[in-house]
Amino acid sequence: MVNFTLEEIRGLMDKPANIRNMSVIAHVDHGKSTLSDALVHRAGIISSAKAGEGRYMDTRPDEQDRGITIKSTAISLYAKFPDPEDLKEIPQKVDGHEFLINLIDSPGHVDFSSEVTAALRVTDGALVVVDCISGVCVQTETVLRQALTERIKPVLCINKVDRALLELQCTKEDLYQSFSRTVESVNVIISTYFDKTLGDVQVYPDRGTIAFGSGLHGWCFTVRQFAIKYAKKFGVDRKKMLERLWGDNYFNPKTKKWTNKGEGADGKPLERAFNQFILDPIFKIFAAVNHNKRDEITTLLEKLDIKLANDEKDLEGKQLLKCVMRKFLPAADALLEMICIHLPSPVTAQKYRAETLYEGPPRRQGLHWYPRL
Ligand code: GDP
Repeated sequence: MVNFTLEEIRGLMDKPANIRNMSVIAHVDHGKSTLSDALVHRAGIISSAKAGEGRYMDTRPDEQDRGITIKSTAISLYAKFPDPEDLKEIPQKVDGHEFLINLIDSPGHVDFSSEVTAALRVTDGALVVVDCISGVCVQTETVLRQALTERIKPVLCINKVDRALLELQCTKEDLYQSFSRTVESVNVIISTYFDKTLGDVQVYPDRGTIAFGSGLHGWCFTVRQFAIKYAKKFGVDRKKMLERLWGDNYFNPKTKKWTNKGEGADGKPLERAFNQFILDPIFKIFAAVNHNKRDEITTLLEKLDIKLANDEKDLEGKQLLKCVMRKFLPAADALLEMICIHLPSPVTAQKYRAETLYEGPPRRQGLHWYPRL
């Protein structure tokens, strides 16, 4: 949790280019509240008295009792990007490297759809959460359509990946194919509600607008994060690496060459780059922890530069898995990065959203729809 003084928060509010107003939307039970909690836990600007209560966004007693969200709640998050390379990737003007994110958690249940509409109106971007096992459901389409009608830009989080690994025991390629299908279903909806003003807002793993992970276990990643890591390691361009880590791209370890064919010259099958470079370390961690192979775990931790605290070294099973995965791929890092880079600031969004929200004459003073602070 980030501790802030009022003045510091006020300071951040003076930089509208660095503000992101966003909502989290999903079909009921796909993990919206859990994911929001993971974000709030790491980046929430919250009084210390409230820390550790859990289900931060479900504040009412009936919500706590029923374990569902009824009313929309808002909370502010803090993110920073110290690396100037990251800031360069943001397609709009920014003011410094600190960001203030106003997150609204709205109910996923159909009975409360008026709350969703109200929440969407005040936001410019949406984090769409989809359970990777159930895939895109009715309410995913309903809220996504609503968001697009309001000219809200989406980014996607494919959630509950831990279940695919632990319960379904799928292979890396099965998982890739399942991700691919979910992405396609989401993009079919997005393209159905295409709005010329908003432009192409489909989501793409190789552009960093999709995160994959487990809200419950507190880990998440974007292809971009791995691309940065491997670009450094191989000494290649970030963007090039990013494009290679999704789709039909394969690296032949023998020839050290990239190809878009699934087999080498010798006819032997090659592993898809996404599976080889991204899923492989994750699968290895899951397998080593599940079979309690201590030596393998130690080797993996060293290789991935993950350090366990003394009291974490005795953990076993799911607790150890959660702890290692959280350190390897902290959910908040992936999600905040995706939100700050790809969702618009109010300054950017109001240029095209104002006409859908307001019918009166524009402010006389000039071109700014967004109120000057
Ligand atoms: P919401 O209705 O979309 O807000 O969903 P919740 O966050 O309340 O989650 C619904 C259920 O799914 C709860 O029982 C969560 O514990 C569970 N859940 C949420 N995220 C994950 C996840 O990443 N993995 C697993 N295995 N379960 C999850």
